[in-house]
Formats: sequence, C-alpha cells, structure tokens
Amino acid sequence: MKAAVVHAPGDIRIEDRPDPQVRARTDAIVRVDLTCVCGTDLWIWRGQAPYEAGQSIGHEFVGTITDTGPDVRLRPGTRVIAPFAWSDGTCNACRRGLHTSCGNGGFWGTPGADGAQGEAVRVPYADATLVAVPDGTDTAILPALLALSDILPTAYHAVTLARVRPRDHVIIVGDGPVGLLTVQAARRAQAGRISLIGHHPERHALARHYGATDTHTDDQPVLPDMDSGSLADTAIDCVGTASSYRTCLAAVRDGGRIAMVGVPYTLRSISPEPLFNRNITFRPGVTPARTYIPRLLPHVLAGSLDPTGVFDTPVALSGLSTAYHAMATRTGVKPLINPHRT
Ligand SMILES: [Zn+2]
Repeated sequence: MKAAVVHAPGDIRIEDRPDPQVRARTDAIVRVDLTCVCGTDLWIWRGQAPYEAGQSIGHEFVGTITDTGPDVRLRPGTRVIAPFAWSDGTCNACRRGLHTSCGNGGFWGTPGADGAQGEAVRVPYADATLVAVPDGTDTAILPALLALSDILPTAYHAVTLARVRPRDHVIIVGDGPVGLLTVQAARRAQAGRISLIGHHPERHALARHYGATDTHTDDQPVLPDMDSGSLADTAIDCVGTASSYRTCLAAVRDGGRIAMVGVPYTLRSISPEPLFNRNITFRPGVTPARTYIPRLLPHVLAGSLDPTGVFDTPVALSGLSTAYHAMATRTGVKPLINPHRT
C-alpha cells in the first residue's frame, strides 16, 4: 500500500509499505476512505515534536473494514469511524471512559503503528476501538464523520473541561479547526458571550458563523473593554503554548476556569502561584475521543451538528505535501485527503 512516511521535519513522503495484516484475533484491517492533516502533525513537520525517521503519520480517519481476526464482531464492508487512539475497551481506564489512558492502547501515526495518512490501517481491539456508521449512510457526510476522529470530540472535551455553563463568558484562544469547533460547542452549551482570539482574521467569519460574539487578533489588546471584575468565566486554550496559556490567564476572572486541549509540546512549566492566588481551576487534558463519538454521532448523522466548515477540498495522497504546506502557511484550514483518489 501507499502511505506517508516521516523522514525529517518538512520531509514526509508517500512510499510503498507492506499491506497491513491481521496479527491478533481482535484486529481489523480498515481501508482509509478519508483522512486529514492535524495541527499536531504540523509539530512534527516543523521539527517541534519528537519523531522517529521511518515512522508513519496521521491519526484521523474514516474507513471501511476489509478483513478481521476471528474474534471481531464488526464485519468486512462496515464503514467505521476511528478515534485517534485505539483501546481495549475493558480495562479500568476504558470503563471510566478514559480510553486514552488504556494500558493496551496506543496512537496511530506513532513508531510501530500504522498512520491514517495511508491506504490502510491495522486496528487493534477493533470492536472496542471503532464506531460503526449505520448502513446506507450517504457518503457525502464522510467529512463530517471524519471530524469525529479528533477535532469534534476535542471541541466538546474542551467545553466539558471548562465546565461551560449557560450565559458564561467564554474566551477561546486559537482559530484552528479545534478553536473554531469549540466556538460551536460553547454555543451549544448556551454560553452567553463567546470571544475568539486568533491570528487569522480570515477565519473569523467562520467563527462568527459558529457563534462567536466577538473576535480578536493578537495584535489587539485582549478584550479592551474588560476590567478585572468583568473578565471571562472560562478560557479555553486550543493552542497549548506558553503564549496562549498566558493569554488565558490574563483573560479569565478570579475563581474562573482554564481548560487546555492544545497539545503542550513547547509548554515546559506552569507556575501554580497565579492559579493559587486567584483560585483559578486549570484543567488540561487529552480527549478520550472514543467516549464522545457515540454521543455526537447521532447529531452529525441528523445534520444538526455540522463541523465541515473547517475542511478544505480533498486532495489525493500524492497531494499530501501540498496539504502540509497549506496548513503550515495557513493558506488552508484543514485539508482533506482521499487516499484512494488518483
Ligand atoms: Zn483499556
């Protein structure tokens, strides 16, 4: 099969790899129907996250089962959504809904695992990991289903960590796909005021469409009309850098909450002192996407939850490096990749 291979920062190539095979009784092989490039892939592309030369990459995909081990109940031909991590579904962590802490779990696109940016993926613990899409679902909805792999659950996890309540003032830092969908999730949680802070004013129209009441670039003072008594109830960091965290700390009121769903690759230390002095609750956390997918899927299938505004036009796998460039230079928001398109 063809799949993306990481050689070095800025050097991710499409190469021939062995077709994935069933190795364990609970494995399934999934043909990737649609995948995309995540902001966290960009950290590898930029050389800011650890990688091993020769590893695969990509962790978001929807696909179709082509083969299974003897213990798998899902049948070949079934369309499935893969959360960005696999999990056994039976351990204490999984039973608590924290599948990303599964002792038998792991992440696609890491050394030794298949990546989503390829034609097929071996899925461990297939019944526990994958979520089946109802038969007869229109293929036009595939991009919306793909959002359930990562970005849509992450937006809802952000709002959950931040405990957004009706009429809250929520500040969202970051105007990437997760930031934009977090605006939508905060709106659905009935936040009163939703302020988006991000570098890319061309994305702010979409933020307003999703429910942002006001948008700000970093060049502006943060919410200039605010005094210390009217800061936000909660700030959500969808970036995960020292700078985005500082913005959250400056924007949130005493007694408020800060949630972080941006992966903090470059954030090496956080002082507890301002959190302590101001009684601010800080809740960072990786999204247990597997928990959110069954909750969100009915709304996506019904069309009442549409995350597709963040996606750009699909390209073939051969266009992968163009997709990375588009994301790195911010000329695209989230390029889609159809690995079987030529
Ligand atoms: Zn588990």
